[in-house]
Amino acid sequence: MTATQDLAARSRAAVWHPCTQMARLDAVPPLPIARGEGGWLFDTTGRRYFDANSSWWVNLFGHSDKALHDAIKAQLDTLPHVMLAGCTHEPAVRLAERLSARTGGALGHVFFGSDGASAVEIALKQSFHCWKNRGRAEKREFVCLKNSYHGETLGALSVTDVQVFRDAYDPLLMRAHIVCAPDSRRSTEDLALAEMRELLERRADHIAAVIVEPLVQCAAGMVMHGAGYLRALRALTLEFGVHLIADEIAVGCGRTAGFFAWDQVKAPWPDFLLLSKGITGGTMPLSLVLTTDDVFDAFLSEDVARGFLHSHSYTGNPLACAAANAVLDRFDAGQVEEIGRQAQRMADAFAPLAPRVADLRQRGMILAFDVPEAPPRFAEAFHLKAREHELLIRPIGNTVYLMPPYLIDDATAAFLAQAVTATLNDVLA
Ligand SMILES: *Cc1c(COP(=O)(O)O)cnc(C)c1O
Repeated sequence: MTATQDLAARSRAAVWHPCTQMARLDAVPPLPIARGEGGWLFDTTGRRYFDANSSWWVNLFGHSDKALHDAIKAQLDTLPHVMLAGCTHEPAVRLAERLSARTGGALGHVFFGSDGASAVEIALKQSFHCWKNRGRAEKREFVCLKNSYHGETLGALSVTDVQVFRDAYDPLLMRAHIVCAPDSRRSTEDLALAEMRELLERRADHIAAVIVEPLVQCAAGMVMHGAGYLRALRALTLEFGVHLIADEIAVGCGRTAGFFAWDQVKAPWPDFLLLSKGITGGTMPLSLVLTTDDVFDAFLSEDVARGFLHSHSYTGNPLACAAANAVLDRFDAGQVEEIGRQAQRMADAFAPLAPRVADLRQRGMILAFDVPEAPPRFAEAFHLKAREHELLIRPIGNTVYLMPPYLIDDATAAFLAQAVTATLNDVLA
């Protein structure tokens, strides 16, 4: 047995892989990855794969980024961890201040979690508890969009409308309102807003919050909408007195061109804004819930139980905060403008593919297209074939997408377009 087969077999025996039907592990064996450098991952035999999905949308500047590693190493030798109840530390304070400043102070309070789903849980609890503290405990319902994805713990799954993830646990979940989603492919923005208005007119007295992924519903299959929808949605939530939660776990940190997706919306800030995934550039687990003075003040009291008594063991971990501060350093130094140039290279390289596929679409560094006449098990077949073309990519159903690290020069853009086209040729042959 080669070392590579050995690692895959040991993994099959001992590791329960996420988001995987383990019975199909022989058909789709996990790649044994030994190391990463820039956009590339290298397996134990030395073969390389371009990480076109940024390792599930977390990596920003490539693997083994020196500035990020140096920031973590320096923090490691100073203070790897201390609890954030009863203690505080410079990396957390600095990160909170810098994120708040990026909202012009509108979202001036930052709560720390460990991953995206925990940030969603925190925002749902804070929204409900805020209304309860104001004597409005009947506002306990949540609204999400059709095909929304907000994570897989029970609260997050309750506002997630992806059947494969949700159906098995349906009896355990809260009942959320699921409203028509805007979709640039079908011009459904007006319909989506009309449905939202109708629901809020009828039910706002019982609704705590609407949760939405601004600009791109990623796990839904890179379903995109315009800033106009979000402006109108913000106006509706203000008119009817319900919170708006902007889940920027995937779309934040430059993916959609602004640092925040909301930077492009030009409307009042949402009541909650969530970050995770890219915020540490793919190095450490961390999530953040940003909120307003208005929400924060509703918890201030001599009564302990009116406070937000929520925590995770690694809340505000200094190593993760140090990595996030190093990510913000890059954005302070012109990263958004650089992303704009790289996104244009992607657009130019993929334009020739447009006649062969459906709905080639792009928002910043997220590029996607659909393959309408795809054969059965298309996503799996595409993923496997792509490996032969040095590409690590996992379509969602019939939607092929790229969400690469911010390392796209002309040669890399050309390589990606060529590898995707070659894979498509193989799979549709
Ligand atoms: C990935 C994701 C989550 C969940 O984050 P995890 O870190 O996987 O728990 C929540 N919302 C959105 C929009 C996501 O893309």
